[in-house]
Amino acid sequence: MTLLRHTHAGEVQERHALTINPAKTCQPIGAMYAALGIHRCLPHSHGSQGCCSYHRSTLSRHYKEPVMAATSSFTEGASVFGGQANLLQAIQNIFTVYQPDVIAVHTTCLSETIGDDIPQIVEKATEEGLIPAGKVVIHANTPSYVGSHTTGFANMTKAMVQYFAESVLPDKVSGRLNVIPGWVEPADMWEIKRLVRLMGLEPIMFPDTSGVLDCPQTGMHQMFPKGGVTVEELKASGDSAATIALGPVCSGPAAKHLAVKCRVPSTILPLPIGLQATDRFIMELRKHNGGRVPEEIADERGRLLDLITDMHQYYFGKTAALWGDPDTLVALSELLLAVDILPKYVVTGTPGKSFLKQMSQVLLDRKHEVQVREGSGADMFLMHQWIKNEPVDLLLGNTYGKYISRDEGIPLVRHGFPILDRVGHQYFPTVGYRGAIRLLEKILDAFLDRQDEECGEETFELTM
Ligand code: SF4
Repeated sequence: MTLLRHTHAGEVQERHALTINPAKTCQPIGAMYAALGIHRCLPHSHGSQGCCSYHRSTLSRHYKEPVMAATSSFTEGASVFGGQANLLQAIQNIFTVYQPDVIAVHTTCLSETIGDDIPQIVEKATEEGLIPAGKVVIHANTPSYVGSHTTGFANMTKAMVQYFAESVLPDKVSGRLNVIPGWVEPADMWEIKRLVRLMGLEPIMFPDTSGVLDCPQTGMHQMFPKGGVTVEELKASGDSAATIALGPVCSGPAAKHLAVKCRVPSTILPLPIGLQATDRFIMELRKHNGGRVPEEIADERGRLLDLITDMHQYYFGKTAALWGDPDTLVALSELLLAVDILPKYVVTGTPGKSFLKQMSQVLLDRKHEVQVREGSGADMFLMHQWIKNEPVDLLLGNTYGKYISRDEGIPLVRHGFPILDRVGHQYFPTVGYRGAIRLLEKILDAFLDRQDEECGEETFELTM
């Protein structure tokens, strides 16, 4: 991160083979997070201990909860001859010692490079009687030299459909919706389920980390907390009336696969962060409840609108720099534009040209004022170079922006993954109308706190 401090203003050097401080992390972290959203599931990292430790510690540091996961613990032998023996032994040990209902295996760079065939190993485990009756081993391929943590999340979520979803009823169940929430906080998952239920519908949410990574303190350690989507619910997802996938990158592949496998019609929407995106989500839900919007939701929307009106005078004309995951960045950009803050710089390390297209659709006639990048060259170093050349008023992204914030004296509002240096974010949603109220309050506080710190005595006012 000290490299950021040596970033100079001036000409931005194009880099094709070098990433400096990437705006992403590795695939298995996403697969592990998604797998934790299955009730009584133990994620399993098929690779070296170091990978698993890194993934667990990053998730633990963000969610401030112990993250349980197992590893195939590759050493030199497995690295040369493959990890079949390690995984067979692991499956036997895990079911004997920890007794999960599901083991969710994800691969790593090493096991992918070796070419380990996970379904073949699981088949062998079944033949050898290592998988007890009623228990399941699922898997997702998550080579970290492809995509990012969001790809890993998407792959493991799609695996839930591949392994579990089934269509057994003659008709789809009216009023029951599959909701794939994307990579959001446990608090966001609670909020999305609350909105769906207020609309009179019954959600099957997968993955669902609410009640898993935001557990109450009871004084007792629970290996498998009470939250998470159950295997029965995952199976029943094939008979739901429809699927709403929030975020095309994280949730789109699972929704598409469910549509093909079980003929469940799917709609892919942006994450419901901000007024317009939440409107779209509610309008989609209306298609399934006869068009009714309860007064409680209408009131929440009205309060957000009122708040935007009150805050607009402070926001107008401000600029922001954003980094993080494609699904989140598209939604945050729309939220900022709605209050007249220009998202001037937007970078994601997750590769994918569809992100650029979505950003164009959000930016519309302001796109010529905005720099948007994706992929390996879109990193925090580039972001810092841009900011040095032309500063912004706000930084909006994960913890890694704190170095730029300190060096350039620009306020940082933390959002996204990972947040390693603050506590409590997992308890407050930023989705839905109520979530937008919280996010806008945090942004305005950052602006006004900075104004109070920097202004002269003669302009330091009690009322602002
Ligand atoms: S990038 Fe590859 S080797 Fe590094 S922690 Fe991730 S999976 Fe392991």
